[in-house]
Amino acid sequence: MTERLLLTLVAVLLLSSCGCHEEWEPPSKSLPKASVVVLGVDGLDRVLLERLIGEGELPNFARVMDEGVVADMQVSQPILSPRIWTSIASGYAPEVHGVLDWVRPNGEPYRAGDLRVERVWDAASAAGKTVLVSGWLMTTPVTQVNGVMLSDEIVLRGSLDSGEGMMRRRDPAILDAWLAWPESQLAQVQDWTPQGTWLESHALSYQVESYGADLHPLARDETHVRSLEALGPTLPADLSMVYLSGADQLSHQFWPFVDPRGVEAMTREPGLRQRSAAQLLKQQPGKRRVPLSDGPTTQADLDTGARWVVDYYRYLDQVLGRVLARLDKTQTTLLICSDHGFRLGNRPVPLFADHRGPALLIGWGAQARPGARARTDVTMLDIAPTLYAMLGIPAASDMRGRLLDDLFDVQALPPVPTRVRVVAGAVPGAPADHPRRSQLEALGYIDGQGAPIPQPGSQ
Ligand SMILES: [Zn+2]
Repeated sequence: MTERLLLTLVAVLLLSSCGCHEEWEPPSKSLPKASVVVLGVDGLDRVLLERLIGEGELPNFARVMDEGVVADMQVSQPILSPRIWTSIASGYAPEVHGVLDWVRPNGEPYRAGDLRVERVWDAASAAGKTVLVSGWLMTTPVTQVNGVMLSDEIVLRGSLDSGEGMMRRRDPAILDAWLAWPESQLAQVQDWTPQGTWLESHALSYQVESYGADLHPLARDETHVRSLEALGPTLPADLSMVYLSGADQLSHQFWPFVDPRGVEAMTREPGLRQRSAAQLLKQQPGKRRVPLSDGPTTQADLDTGARWVVDYYRYLDQVLGRVLARLDKTQTTLLICSDHGFRLGNRPVPLFADHRGPALLIGWGAQARPGARARTDVTMLDIAPTLYAMLGIPAASDMRGRLLDDLFDVQALPPVPTRVRVVAGAVPGAPADHPRRSQLEALGYIDGQGAPIPQPGSQ
């Protein structure tokens, strides 16, 4: 057992047994000047966001959208989060970066070792910039960066249903795949994952109680926000990229209650949700029980259901306020991205939520051009080249996106030819003997170099 693994074990044991950290008091330091902060908010829907702002809610989102730039962001089909977040972070299309879905047709999850490209933090680290990456999809196993990386699986306990019934992560035992940061700071992890009384007294406690603390996204999202608050200033991080999943998870279950068409359909036909839920469970056995579907939909159900997503947006707005309080607007640039919005869907049954494009980009702070309009459509491939320019690092000439110099005050450096890796899976610092990797190799999905072997029927 390596020393790092041992320390990690100690940290995780502390984390699971210590109930003494009930209040979160982050160091009151600001994030470093001239840094770039990216908040990735899965499923953040522009229509709902603007509706709530119009109703006087979400003052912090209202502020950044008013003071900064706002654009729809085109994403490629199929609209699946791991594909899109990896494109946002790399500047390459899914067919190039290698993450095509959550899982392969055989059920094996895609993981960080599947990537065939560098992500911005890899190049930034290599260029001597300090980075903080927390919760970003496809960061397990973690790679060594010049800074800190908390993997997307760090807060998971046992099996986790993503809320979409699409995947279960079964390998929490791979502890050394979770963390990459200076060993001296490992013990701080216990301060970041919220514990019993914090969760119980939170405005979302009714949701946490109903879902269970392990399945509800609050503890996960809060942990990643706290890592930014605690470590962003102390690194100090030139680039911080934090991913929050909760809005997506809750929208999957509760979107019909915030969608006027959904409310209308359930009012007109009170048995619709119950019937659709039964049909859904029949089509997708093993999926979580659908909330508020035990009987015909009542007015009380409509009121309760509407609170779930809206209350989570309110929490995200508070998170944004916490981040803004640490930023110097004249020095630091903040990007808020989503990967898709939501709409009422017909698949696999009527009434439930579907991902929809476009996604959303908000820019604010030092390099944002307030009120600027995009020359042409913004796409998910434009974010990475723009981040490279903000950091003063060359992008690559085989990236298809464009520099968003209409929305941001940025200039590109002469590009390098490519940021595609020669050997797939050759992630610096990735544990060569990672159990998942040997398993995949043994199963014939990857070769001895970690390169995927094409499978019949796969994309
Ligand atoms: Zn989703």
